[in-house]
This record gives sequence, C-alpha cells and structure tokens, in this order.
Amino acid sequence: AKSQGGNRMVAFEQEMREQALLRSSLEADLRLAIERAELFNVYQPVVGLLADGRMDPGAGVEALVRWRHPIRGLVGPVDFIGIAESTGMINAIGSQVLATACRDFVAWQRALGDRAPRLLAVNLSRAQLTQPGLCDQVAAILAASGMPAAQLQLEITESLAAQGADIQQQLLDLKQLGVKLALDDFGTGYSSLSSLHLLPVDTVKIDRSFVSLAASSAHHKVLIEATVLVARSLGMTTVAEGIETVEQANVAHAQGCDKGQGYLYSRPLESAVLLEWLNQRQE
Ligand code: C2E
Ligand code: CA
Ligand code: CA
Ligand code: CA
Repeated sequence: AKSQGGNRMVAFEQEMREQALLRSSLEADLRLAIERAELFNVYQPVVGLLADGRMDPGAGVEALVRWRHPIRGLVGPVDFIGIAESTGMINAIGSQVLATACRDFVAWQRALGDRAPRLLAVNLSRAQLTQPGLCDQVAAILAASGMPAAQLQLEITESLAAQGADIQQQLLDLKQLGVKLALDDFGTGYSSLSSLHLLPVDTVKIDRSFVSLAASSAHHKVLIEATVLVARSLGMTTVAEGIETVEQANVAHAQGCDKGQGYLYSRPLESAVLLEWLNQRQE
C-alpha cells in the first residue's frame, strides 16, 4: 500500500509538471495568437421565452471567444481566459472581442433590419473591470463601430460585483455610458438575493447548474422562482442559462424567466451561421 501511495505521489507530481508545462506553452502561444488573429468570436442566441413554448429568436446574442490554435485546434475560453487574466493579456483580448462583436452586431442590423438581434452581450473579466481606462475604451469602441450603447450588455460575475467601492464606481461609470449590465452565473457565488439590490445591474443570468436541475428538483425550482421574484421587484430581467431540454425550457418559463439560452435553441455559432439561423427562425 505504501509503494502504491508513492506511485500515486509520483503520478501526481508528474501531472502537476505537465500542467505547468502546458500552461507556459499556452501562455507563449497566446501572445502570438493575438498578433496572428487566431482569436475569433462565436455568438449564442438568447431567446425570449413566450407563452405556450414559443420563443422570440431576436431577443439577443452572447459573444463568446474562441482560439483556433495552429496545433491544438480549437481551444475554449476556460482553457485560456485564466492565463490571459494573470498575464494582463486580457485587456487586449477583451477589447478585441468587444470591438469585433460591435462591428458584427452593426452588420447584422444592416443585413436583417428589424429581424436582427436586439441585444449584444459581451463578458467582462475581473482584470478588465479593475482597469481604470475601461470606460474610455468601451466608449471609443461604441463610437468607432456605431454600436448603440443601449443595445450592449456587459456581463460580470457575481463574485466580481460583490467587490469593493472602486468596482462599484466603475460599474456606475459604465451605466453612465448607457450600456446595460448583467450579473452572470447567478447562484454560484457568495452574494445572494438579499444583496441583489446593491448592484447596478439590469439583468440576472441564472446559472446553468440551477436550470439543469430545476426539472427534477423542487428545491432548485423554488430557487429560480425566488430569484425571478426578487429580480422582478427590482426591475431586473432574468435569463435562464444552459437550457438543453424542452422540459427545462418549460420550467424556466413557468417560473417566470424572461429569456433563455442554451443548446436547445442553438450552440454558439460563427457570425455567418448566426445570420442563417436568424433568417430561418423568423416567422
Ligand atoms: P458564460 O459567460 O457563462 O457563457 C456560457 C457558457 O455556457 C459558454 O461556454 C456556452 O458555450 C456554454 N453553454 C451555453 N449553453 C449551454 C448548454 O445548454 N449546455 C452547456 N453544457 N453549456 C452551454 P464557453 O463559450 O466555453 O465559455 C465559458 C466561459 O468563458 C463563459 O461562461 C465566460 O465566463 C468565459 N468567456 C467566454 N468568452 C469570454 C470573453 O470574451 N471574455 C471573457 N472575459 N470571458 C469569456
Ligand atoms: Ca456570460
Ligand atoms: Ca453564465
Ligand atoms: Ca459561466
């Protein structure tokens, strides 16, 4: 048993070493990825949840970044956003994601008119939110792209929003620009329903972990219902994240969620494919 434990230790150390190697190689590659334009946006529809199971396909989209790595293939954000944050590369990446998304959104408006998505959601990371120049950067991107501020929704996570006075001020400054704010992954962090009124957000996105359990767990169903009631009383709208089944969609709608997002409606799509999706869905 002792030698087995020793083997496990060796395996563990090797695993750690491999992780560290992978990280430093990805870090070096990520610096080049920005210059070589290997990063691109995909867009996932966020639909309006209407009565009797119908949905409004034009409610909005969320921009999600992807990395086409020359050797590793497609790399998702969970594998590189952390590296980008700890190395400061997130500011360059974040502004590129935002600028591209705004340009794409304006192009959809031209191509689709009133059938275009009405809202563009873009994720902000902690490092971006603590950066003093963020508001000027967002304002410059809005001006350069012709993106209407009121149709941009910046998404922040719960843990971030609960931070100190400087982040609160940054959020208020962003709101001054006329953009909307959403609280992402609600339910996974430490803040709670009782502190929702302290945050200057317009929308609460209920985390997938609740939505996926809501069809089978009365407890999670009640948590969604309570979130919707509190959010609504504060004038906020709600989005159910990660809807994969019709049953989950029905529960989300029955509990009063305004919008839904998930594989049931669509996976994240490249811009041209999103245009097709929107064209096909409009009645
Ligand atoms: P998020 O903001 O909560 O985005 C939703 C994630 O859930 C996306 O993963 C999306 O593909 C996935 N998803 C959507 N519907 C379903 C579903 O029905 N089932 C399942 N299993 N998953 C679903 P993705 O694209 O891998 O992004 C992961 C996270 O990385 C995002 O979570 C966000 O926190 C972060 N992220 C993505 N793009 C950016 C970005 O441009 N900037 C920053 N700072 N973070 C980003
Ligand atoms: Ca998000
Ligand atoms: Ca989320
Ligand atoms: Ca998430």
